[in-house]
Amino acid sequence: METMSIEHVDVLIVGAGLSGIGAGYHLQTECPGRSYAILEARGASGGTWDLFRYPGIRSDSDMYTLGYRFRPWVEGAAIADGPSILSYVKDTARENGIDSKIRYHHRVARAAWSSEDARWTVDVERTDTGETAQMTCAFLFMCTGYYDYEEPFTPELPGADRFGGTLVHPQHWSDDIDYAGKRVVVLGSGATAVTLVPAMAEEAAHVTMLQRSPSYIVSLPGEDGLANFLRRVLPAKLAYSIVRWKNVLITSAFFQLSRRRPKLAKDQVLRVQLEGCDLPPALAPGATREEGGWWRIPVVDVAHVEQALARLREAGAAIAAVEVAEPELEEVFVKIMRESRAAA
Ligand SMILES: Cc1cc2nc3c(=O)[nH]c(=O)nc-3n(C[C@H](O)[C@H](O)[C@H](O)COP(=O)(O)OP(=O)(O)OC[C@H]3O[C@@H](n4cnc5c(N)ncnc54)[C@H](O)[C@@H]3O)c2cc1C
Repeated sequence: METMSIEHVDVLIVGAGLSGIGAGYHLQTECPGRSYAILEARGASGGTWDLFRYPGIRSDSDMYTLGYRFRPWVEGAAIADGPSILSYVKDTARENGIDSKIRYHHRVARAAWSSEDARWTVDVERTDTGETAQMTCAFLFMCTGYYDYEEPFTPELPGADRFGGTLVHPQHWSDDIDYAGKRVVVLGSGATAVTLVPAMAEEAAHVTMLQRSPSYIVSLPGEDGLANFLRRVLPAKLAYSIVRWKNVLITSAFFQLSRRRPKLAKDQVLRVQLEGCDLPPALAPGATREEGGWWRIPVVDVAHVEQALARLREAGAAIAAVEVAEPELEEVFVKIMRESRAAA
């Protein structure tokens, strides 16, 4: 009987996003004698930064800490747009010959460890042809990200099936989605929503953000003055390393402050962000949140979200018709977003 030979590599990296390409770099630099391959389910590298195409897509952390330690981020913008991050990841792969290790359309479906053989057997499905294959490796390095690429989390929205407009998840955004002149409701208040709302507001007739819990948004300058200065006077790698450490330390310090003294952290954020802004009582911060974060300006009070959600449920078929009751809420929200954008 003919035995099919199964390809073996020392290390199998799963996923060709920011992590997979970084893993490839470190592996080939520090263990040059080891063989490796990167299996990527999609037809392109870049992971998150290739998949997400919604308006305004950008990072929310600075590229001096999100970028690779070994490859300086030399662009002016510290908070970078999606296409720039994608180019950075792809350029890193190309410059270091990592792209030749990537096998596109190879989805890892299953992996089984054998202690006897001290190796993994990995089942691979070709996402373009449907063929299947097996590979073995001694070390399986999962760089697959943290969310489901096919099925993003979508909460159940009562009446959504009767909604006559377009219902879209940002993970499935495509270029043919036309929202110019339309009334839009954005559900959620995380980093994606905060990015999406000002970008869509440029063209939409009206954009309302619905959020379940209060959050705080810190607007930081889009460029890092120290980084721009150091890049002019120091070698790029040294400048990058200094700014990276500065940002790591500041972020860690603020995180610790938010955990240990949440009220102080919250007050600081409010003081810096809302100085001179007359906050209506409806927007006063709610209960202190125990866990801290960088972006904490109250945008909408819980009570109003509950009202809006109640109306959403009542309206059922007409998500786009939902309005936040108090016009002052929207005014303040728009002001905060404008200020954030101006600061960026
Ligand atoms: C809109 C958005 C903004 C973000 N902004 C930031 C930020 O500012 N700062 C920050 O730190 N993080 C941010 N993140 C998180 C971001 O995902 C990570 O920072 C980073 O890009 C993750 O890289 P990754 O390579 O680990 O995963 P991903 O980018 O998710 O890449 C995973 C890759 O693995 C592949 N894959 C998955 N399963 C399989 C399988 N079974 N077989 C083969 N291949 C597979 C995928 O196709 C994909 O290419 C953001 C995320 C989103 C969605």
